[in-house]
Amino acid sequence: MDWLMGKSKTKPNGKKPPTEEKKQYLETEYTKVRVVDFDLKELVVLPTEIDLNEWLASNTTTFFNLINLQYSTISEFCTGDTCQAMTACNTTYYWYDEKGKKTKCTAPQYVDFVMSLVQKLVTDEDIFPTKYGKEFPNAFDTLVKKICKYLFHVLAHIYWAHYRETVAMDLHGHLNTLYTHFIVFVREFNLVDPKETVIMDDLSEVLCAPLPPAQNHVTER
Ligand SMILES: [Zn+2]
Repeated sequence: MDWLMGKSKTKPNGKKPPTEEKKQYLETEYTKVRVVDFDLKELVVLPTEIDLNEWLASNTTTFFNLINLQYSTISEFCTGDTCQAMTACNTTYYWYDEKGKKTKCTAPQYVDFVMSLVQKLVTDEDIFPTKYGKEFPNAFDTLVKKICKYLFHVLAHIYWAHYRETVAMDLHGHLNTLYTHFIVFVREFNLVDPKETVIMDDLSEVLCAPLPPAQNHVTER
């Protein structure tokens, strides 16, 4: 377990860990591991009796909580040293503050900005109303899209920089299922610009395709 000590992760010059460039997360051995075996596409469709905004609100809140939880499992490995920038594949994300000023920050800072912002939004009664009869704001759609974009960045970073730790904890099945559910959801309601998600399309295509029947079972590894 000496990789846990950061042997291949901590590079003083801040270079990307070389092993991650092989995209271990694309290997069949790993992509076939999921925690559910039903079709997630059916799960995201708007139920007839439910208001669209209500549906977007409850799903967005759930994804926020689950992605926050998934990140927390690897957060001890995501430090200012190991992840000096918020990277995923060849992309580096910069945080834009309230005034629109671009800031360079470490991955844990970026994730903290994301989670604090989303927490603030989903608990704001004027934006995510929970009381009966209270209306959603005009900007609701825009805000949900913004939240989903940021949550995607967090998932992409977990795959890119913390996949090995996730596998070591045997949590990659959870990550795959969460990622697939999230991608299927944002596609169903066009919540994230495909240009944003293109960096992970190789994984999305594998995970969103139906599993062959023989492997379509939770316990098969
Ligand atoms: Zn990290």
